[in-house]
Amino acid sequence: MIIAERKPIQEITASLVPYKNVLMVGCNTCVAVCLAGGAKEVSVLSAVLRLALRENQPELTIAERCVERQCEAEMNAELATEIGSYDAVLSTACGVGVQTLAEQFPETVVLPALNTKFMGRPEELGVWSERCAGCGNCVLDRFGGICPVTRCSKNLLNGPCGGSANGRCEVDPVNIPCAWQLIYDRLARLGQLERLTAIEPAKDWSTSRHGGPRRVIRKDVKL
Ligand code: SF4
Ligand code: SF4
Repeated sequence: MIIAERKPIQEITASLVPYKNVLMVGCNTCVAVCLAGGAKEVSVLSAVLRLALRENQPELTIAERCVERQCEAEMNAELATEIGSYDAVLSTACGVGVQTLAEQFPETVVLPALNTKFMGRPEELGVWSERCAGCGNCVLDRFGGICPVTRCSKNLLNGPCGGSANGRCEVDPVNIPCAWQLIYDRLARLGQLERLTAIEPAKDWSTSRHGGPRRVIRKDVKL
């Protein structure tokens, strides 16, 4: 899922300075699971903003809504009748949700309340970690299901580097396991260590972000 976290309150309040009547819109999917932008977080952020702005911007009103998936225009349709009556929308969705609202309601100012971080998974309560960089050409089959693009700090496809020590990554030994140690251990467990004798050819990055914004077109389902 997409992992995001709330921007610093000072940054959000600064973005609200020109406005008096704001609609805050949450999203009940990824950002709700990562406790950053679902209905509960909208309610908490709204209260925090009212407190933070009670002296400098006492006239500010904040209405609260939450849609199921802000990245799908259909799910935002319920906002259409009222969105024009607000000076701005403060979105607690990921960057995709923010842009969907902005495209869908071109006359409306849409502001982000979150910083979108990465695609990842919950590790434990309060900890989320990156697992996929969306390279567009998945190589997990060759690496025991562990992504060297995302989890090796140097994105090495033929690792490890000389800095791997005691199973930890030299970039941050305390917090980052060496991806190549993880790959080795996993392949050993699967009885597939011989995979590591093959040199992985240079990756075709044209499927990644380097070619600009990407689209997926499914002709079999496209109308
Ligand atoms: S190889 Fe690419 S698509 Fe597969 S998990 Fe890694 S970044 Fe994601
Ligand atoms: S120590 Fe491991 S994870 Fe860190 S950069 Fe080197 S190979 Fe990659």
